[in-house]
Amino acid sequence: MHTPIKYLIFKIMAILLLFLWSSCSKKVLPQYNSISEINATIINNRTNNREFIPKAIYNPLYVRVNFIFLLDENGKGNFNGNSEENNEIFKQIFKKSNELYANLKNPKDPICYKGNDFISDTKIQLQFKKMYVKDSFARNYLNAKGYSEKKKNVGLLSPSNRWYLKYLDDNIHDTITKKGINIYNTINAKALDDLLQNNSETGYLNTMKNSLSQFPSYTDFNRSSQINYPNKYLKRLWMENIYAKKRKVSWEKFVKGYFISHYMGLSHELGHSFGLGHGNEYHQRNKCFKAMMSQSGKSPRNYIQPSEVGKMHKALMTSNLIQFVTEDSNFDTPRIISKNENWDFKTLRFYQSIIVKQNTVLILNGTVIFPPNASIILEKNAVLILNNATLKTAGRKPFTNIIKKKHARIIRY
Ligand SMILES: [Zn+2]
Repeated sequence: MHTPIKYLIFKIMAILLLFLWSSCSKKVLPQYNSISEINATIINNRTNNREFIPKAIYNPLYVRVNFIFLLDENGKGNFNGNSEENNEIFKQIFKKSNELYANLKNPKDPICYKGNDFISDTKIQLQFKKMYVKDSFARNYLNAKGYSEKKKNVGLLSPSNRWYLKYLDDNIHDTITKKGINIYNTINAKALDDLLQNNSETGYLNTMKNSLSQFPSYTDFNRSSQINYPNKYLKRLWMENIYAKKRKVSWEKFVKGYFISHYMGLSHELGHSFGLGHGNEYHQRNKCFKAMMSQSGKSPRNYIQPSEVGKMHKALMTSNLIQFVTEDSNFDTPRIISKNENWDFKTLRFYQSIIVKQNTVLILNGTVIFPPNASIILEKNAVLILNNATLKTAGRKPFTNIIKKKHARIIRY
């Protein structure tokens, strides 16, 4: 008689326990019926640049730069790759630009920056590729309609949707598979003729000396990024044939080095391509003498504020610049998400794996690109919410490498 009652009590208790356990586990795993229910920090274009500062242990990102020499129909009238000496000069210029990006110097100048979190490495390296394009019209920027060296109306020589090299840039940007920042070595052909035929420097001295860069686009992710980089060939010939001779100084020993030092100007122009201006939240334009973005010709141009490096990396993640970073670029150190975050971008490229810590929610939106061998690790009870999100690898394949620990979930909206 006793046994069935005992058995019944035991059975009821077991059901009760099971019920209690299941209701408890429901508390641990909230349902998140909509994103508005989730208390998460939104990361978007207005987020402080500091969030994007690279860590010292990161591997650098490699950004492709197409260094384009525009030649006349005979393959002349600019650097054309035939001179060993000139090839060596550009090797030096490219090398020094990369050294600058990896070896910033602390100016210890409170006008520049008051924080003490100086970083010496931008974690950006430039992968220069020389290209030679025969196009007499493009080579000579005097062909830009309305431009005159007298007026110096440089707006007409500034890369845009309307400038005179738009047709060529469309052609290069649309056809090339490994897209890069396009630097156009243009020239004042009249001043070059004057120098070559009459050994006259008058034309050169009156030419435009400014280079002109485009800021990144945060809306058109397919847009190219261009730099008009004028008159370097002219400058090089002028320096050896006129300047060095007039001043009786050795081209080989001194003047060549001076020419090579325009790597600082090149690094500055690329700084604009990465979103930097001449001033920032810490100082007005040109107030920080040693800054890479200073316009002073005497500046060593070897400093960038940590937050400005963050700005560059934010641009590399969230603007048209994502096209120019090599596919296998990878910090090789995961980003740790330890508080709920909502990365709210239409297009976003990560350069690292992601670890979402226990009980933490990560929300991704739009197109999100990862390095080919990266992963997302969801720790115990972590939640990945894909809100109309498409995950891809930089090689354009679907990204599927998501590792779920106990009770971790992926929710799709
Ligand atoms: Zn500038």
